[in-house]
Amino acid sequence: MERDAPIYVAGGQTLIGSALLRQLKSQGFTNLVGTPSDDLNLCSAAAVDNFFRNARPRFVIFAAGKSGGIQTNRSFPADLMLDNLLSQCHVIDAAHRYGVTKLLYLASSCSYPKQCPQPMCVESLMSGPLEPTNDAYATAKLAGITLCQADARQHGDNFICGIPANAFGIDDDFTPEGGHVIPALIGKIHRAKVESQPSVEIWGTGTPRREFIFADDLADACLFVLREYDDTQTPINLGSGAELSIGETAERIRNVVGYRGELVFDANKPDGMPLKSLDTTPLTRMGWRARTSIIAALNETYDAYLHQERKLQREPIHV
Ligand code: GDP
Repeated sequence: MERDAPIYVAGGQTLIGSALLRQLKSQGFTNLVGTPSDDLNLCSAAAVDNFFRNARPRFVIFAAGKSGGIQTNRSFPADLMLDNLLSQCHVIDAAHRYGVTKLLYLASSCSYPKQCPQPMCVESLMSGPLEPTNDAYATAKLAGITLCQADARQHGDNFICGIPANAFGIDDDFTPEGGHVIPALIGKIHRAKVESQPSVEIWGTGTPRREFIFADDLADACLFVLREYDDTQTPINLGSGAELSIGETAERIRNVVGYRGELVFDANKPDGMPLKSLDTTPLTRMGWRARTSIIAALNETYDAYLHQERKLQREPIHV
């Protein structure tokens, strides 16, 4: 990848997309086309076609499509599925028709079956029923993987797929309803601290386990596989190896935020998958490792949350 090659990050405004743009800039890539402010509607085939015709990207990373935490997936399964299906079909198809040199499609660890042997390896994809709380979103992601594989087989396109662990970080969705567990708990626990609430409600039993990856590390892994990985028929897991229970995660966030109240688990709320841990042997064998410790990443994410809050002027900051 030459430093001046035109590169398009589809979904540059998302958590992972914005981390990718930061990482590309910091690694000296100068020709980033279709910045988030262009406001390209990926659900419109005509708009995507028009964009590719004019911008002619040579490398594409697909980090677009609506996503959210467990509650968003339960409340808006159709919205999530449609948005992901439409946007990925348009971008992958345009990438094929306009002769993109290489494309990296980002799927999700929820594409794995609910009862998947752990750590999850790519051979287990499509081997069993999905977790019901996110089956619509996961099915769209599986379709995206299959479309990339099919384009490669039928047309010889170099379209590869990455499956990230649960990503979190700067530019995350910190709302209690929409966010994934880490940003949602940062928002909830910070608010409890500011409002001197005696306790915070944590959904579920606290026992499910998740592998987390800081979005900036994930972006680094994406650029690594874009350079080093060419097996179009075998997706590659993009994980950090940092696995925690939800209870442990909440406890660490409480320490980072400096909240002294109690964490109360509400077992009536859904747990989702009991465990999501990725087999990252292929990635680590190729020589990639995450750089940021979970605590450093949580601290950076909390700083980003405080910054965002200050910008929105929703409330005074108490650190
Ligand atoms: P998932 O990894 O796809 O299941 O999605 P999430 O990132 O939303 O993580 C969900 C896990 O965190 C489930 O076990 C939830 O019960 C638990 N959890 C606890 N509190 C919260 C919260 O405030 N928000 C979210 N999204 N999940 C929470």
